[in-house]
Amino acid sequence: MTVLPITIWGEPVLHRRAADVEVFDDELRQLIADMFETNDKANGVGLAAPQVGVGKRIFVYKYDNEDGAPPSGVLVNPVLTLSKISGALPDPDEEVEGCLSFPGGQYPLKRADWARVQGFDGFGKPVDFEATGWFARVIQHEYDHLDGRLYVNRLIDRYARRAMKQAKKSGWGVPGLTWMPGVDPDPFGH
Ligand code: ZN
Repeated sequence: MTVLPITIWGEPVLHRRAADVEVFDDELRQLIADMFETNDKANGVGLAAPQVGVGKRIFVYKYDNEDGAPPSGVLVNPVLTLSKISGALPDPDEEVEGCLSFPGGQYPLKRADWARVQGFDGFGKPVDFEATGWFARVIQHEYDHLDGRLYVNRLIDRYARRAMKQAKKSGWGVPGLTWMPGVDPDPFGH
């Protein structure tokens, strides 16, 4: 298994819709194994294929959940069903999100409390589970990546402004930027 560099805000593959996986072969399973390795090395709770430069509808997660889903897993070609989002404003202490492709930044965002995710594993076997609370947030965050959306694209005004300021200050927003888990400093100080 190989640790892969993680793409940063501005890399085009992060900002366009990823393509459906059509073949469940060894190459796919190798990519999935590398994504797990990369996510572990980055201390992530989830990682989507565009974050390692691959525009395919795949994400992995590693999250000890109370919903009866495996503590880690992969979703290929996932479909999401979400509950309605309740409340208008995110709690700035309790509902703060971060992204390995927007390293170091953490901003509040409202998410649905419940999600059902259906898709396939690396062998084409169906995967289907429900997630609540923070686990549901993880699933929504990773799914968004497959539609070319980062959580910062969903922020309300004041937080969106702060995030864009961070991106500008960091020199992001251009193609080709990556960071290397295990080599570069952990952007979230784990
Ligand atoms: Zn992310």
